[in-house]
Amino acid sequence: MHKIDIDLVEMTLDVMKYTIDRISATNSKIGKPKKESELKALVGETVTKKGIGGEQAFKLWKKHLMKANVPADHPRHLAFVPASPTRAAVMFDLVTSASSIHGAYWMEGAGGIFCENEAMRWMVSLTGLPEGAFGVFTSGGTAANLSAIVTAREYWRKDDTYKREKGLIITSIGAHSSIKAMAKVADVDILLVDSEEKLTGNDLRKTIDALNFHQRKRLFAVVATGGTTNAGIIDDLEGVAKVCETENLWFHVDAAYGGGALIADSVRHLFKGIELADSITIDPHKWMFSPYDCGAVIYKNPELAKAAHSQQGSYLDIFKDEGAHGFNPTDYQIQLTRRVRGLPLWFSLATHGTDRYKEAVERGLELAQIAGKMIEEMPHVELVRDPSLSCVLYRRIDWKPEDYTHWTYENHKSGFALVTPTKWKNGDTFETVSRFCFINPDTTEEDIKLILESMK
Ligand SMILES: *Cc1c(COP(=O)(O)O)cnc(C)c1O
Repeated sequence: MHKIDIDLVEMTLDVMKYTIDRISATNSKIGKPKKESELKALVGETVTKKGIGGEQAFKLWKKHLMKANVPADHPRHLAFVPASPTRAAVMFDLVTSASSIHGAYWMEGAGGIFCENEAMRWMVSLTGLPEGAFGVFTSGGTAANLSAIVTAREYWRKDDTYKREKGLIITSIGAHSSIKAMAKVADVDILLVDSEEKLTGNDLRKTIDALNFHQRKRLFAVVATGGTTNAGIIDDLEGVAKVCETENLWFHVDAAYGGGALIADSVRHLFKGIELADSITIDPHKWMFSPYDCGAVIYKNPELAKAAHSQQGSYLDIFKDEGAHGFNPTDYQIQLTRRVRGLPLWFSLATHGTDRYKEAVERGLELAQIAGKMIEEMPHVELVRDPSLSCVLYRRIDWKPEDYTHWTYENHKSGFALVTPTKWKNGDTFETVSRFCFINPDTTEEDIKLILESMK
């Protein structure tokens, strides 16, 4: 298992061949899930006392198991938030694995963490946060949001007045599900402003004014969204920031999906006010073309995150020693042992330069505009609202919810496309509509046209 022999050499070559085939494929199939029992029937027992051998295991992977996944980078995968890692980033993900770097402390991971920090510095520069702001890569937006909420809560509780209070945060119903989920993990209550459209300073003002005395005492943070996952809506970050400042509240911006658009000149102005945030979530595995899993949390004052997250233990003392001085990513988020998951992003940025990132993000924005125009021109579909960032919500005239579901399954079954329905709040009711989210710059106008025509 740990020795070098001919089997290892052959396996290495097989893996490289597979990787090259996969990342250079231009016409890969959209896979579909099978029941666990079906997969089991196809592959049989794989974990046995003596092992089935790498060749056989890899054969089963290629023949059956790999096909039961939907490649998130397929150009006609426009559901949820797709991914489209650059080929350079994918290749360096292999290098990251091969290098066995423990990315928690500078002492062990200086070279890898240095690279992560170079990429992070670029990300921080996109936000316009003041000097001293910095961040770390996390497993995703969920972990980033949790790390930020816990930092805010610990900072708030430093004041004895709040030591025994259960915290309260305000966000809107447009916020991502992970905000609610992470508030639960942190045992914090959450109050939702009931609008999926842009959360404004005014909405926030009114919500705070309507709180009773105890609720106001418990309120410590506001989460605005920098590109809602459902519709690409960017809250009025400047307005919300102003209220947070007056009310002395932590201002978190969840830009897990939309953060990549900070680099796009055409929409950067929509994020005005993000530079006033106390913390920001951005997922490079969404619109910064990194492989999974790579999120990031950025703090205006990283020392506050350190106060909340730094772990203590006699076995860890050596890392805090003079000789080990440097940046310790573990201190700023919830995880100890960690992969240097920002390394693939760094390599891809270094390879291609930031201009190419700008172009690729602009293309996603442009595809949303192109789709919007096509929808306006076709008689059987109509826009629910104007495209926002790279999200397009539209309806097929006269369709019921089950028609959308049926259409999604038919397209998926035939391996043609993955486009899923969502709901949009229309007055007091939720309407089932169709949604595109563009990330992959290789999606073509023809792809969009074919998908829309399949709704006829
Ligand atoms: C995707 C998303 C998240 C969750 O991020 P994960 O990387 O899936 O954990 C949080 N917030 C927003 C706005 C998102 O789009």
